[in-house]
Amino acid sequence: MESLTRDTETSTPPKVLHGLPETVIFCKRCVMSNQRPSTSPELRKRDSRIETAAFGEDGICHACRFAELKATIDWQAREEQLLRLLDRYRRSDGGYDVVVPGSGGKDSAYVSHVLRERYGMNPLTVTWAPHIYTDIGWRNFQAWMHVGGLNNLLFTPNPRIHGVMTRLAFLNLLNPFQPFIIGQKNLAPQIALKYGVKLIMYGENQAEYHNKLSETQSPLMSPDHYTGQPGQKYYFGGVHQDELGAYGIHRPDLEPYLPISLAEAESGGLELHYMSYYHRWVPQENYYYAVEHCGFEPNPERSEGTYSKYASLDDRIDGFHYYTMFIKFGQGRAMNDAAHEIRDGHITREEAVALVHKYDGEFPKKYFGDFLEYTGLTEDEFWQAIDRNRSPHLWAKRDGEWVLLHQVS
Ligand SMILES: [Zn+2]
Repeated sequence: MESLTRDTETSTPPKVLHGLPETVIFCKRCVMSNQRPSTSPELRKRDSRIETAAFGEDGICHACRFAELKATIDWQAREEQLLRLLDRYRRSDGGYDVVVPGSGGKDSAYVSHVLRERYGMNPLTVTWAPHIYTDIGWRNFQAWMHVGGLNNLLFTPNPRIHGVMTRLAFLNLLNPFQPFIIGQKNLAPQIALKYGVKLIMYGENQAEYHNKLSETQSPLMSPDHYTGQPGQKYYFGGVHQDELGAYGIHRPDLEPYLPISLAEAESGGLELHYMSYYHRWVPQENYYYAVEHCGFEPNPERSEGTYSKYASLDDRIDGFHYYTMFIKFGQGRAMNDAAHEIRDGHITREEAVALVHKYDGEFPKKYFGDFLEYTGLTEDEFWQAIDRNRSPHLWAKRDGEWVLLHQVS
């Protein structure tokens, strides 16, 4: 599979890969580093260069500033705004009036159930299936409907196509979840158009995860994030769509992955809103809500790479999303979880630092075999791709072992 890999041989090796900031800093308040990506994969580009977490001059990340801002928001006024929004879209003819995308994890269970039970909406929940369901993920997904009392459309992408795309995204971008993220993002607008539903309600604004503070001032997702132009060409897994035929992927296979056009979104009257704008968003509270109302169960065991048991449970290969982030950006699953929990006031920074040192970057060995089988990669191909994506400003080899050069303290 040499042809799949990018040529990394140059006369002077670059000091920094992936377009990351050369100087590593950690937020003084939470534990997040400035290497963290803040944007979704860009379909119009070949490489996976991305914007990174926004930090203030004072060394505090924007997500921490946003957490401060949340404490000053008049949440009662925000709920009144929500009521006015829902009144605009609520239907009296029995049709669906809101689409809620999600996996049936704690967050989408919370959003959909609250919309139905507290606000009298008629939600249609839509799910882009995980690569391979875990047992606990499938039970939680089923309980969402059986206990929560909701309607759901489950979309499962052709695993032969999705497996090849995942493999390309891993080898070319070290971002095996890129096809999943693209598909998941484009599914809800496609379904809303087909069912004539105008309102889509997401859970949290990505500002919770280090987008710029200015993006939190609106409840709406910008159409730039979910529309394209008719006939526009895209890159999948770092390969231009016209070149995907070499990998057995043809135009009809791309249908689920393509965004709707701006004209379609406008004529369908689509609006995508974030629930986190209207309700104070605390993942731990969503978890308690989902347990009580939607039969949600935590993982019986700790997820590899972190200390938590209730987030991101449904996909056997989830661990590789976080592990590749750890390799590329030097920050993994435990750091993400701990930073969020500091901001929500659940743990102290000292506790978080200890958790990051203990769990961040733990290899997800439990489902390694599943990951290799799903993508068709060999172990050698896997480790070669891992090692060629270690940026020299983050990693060095000492006594034959890879060492992370900057640790939060
Ligand atoms: Zn921070």
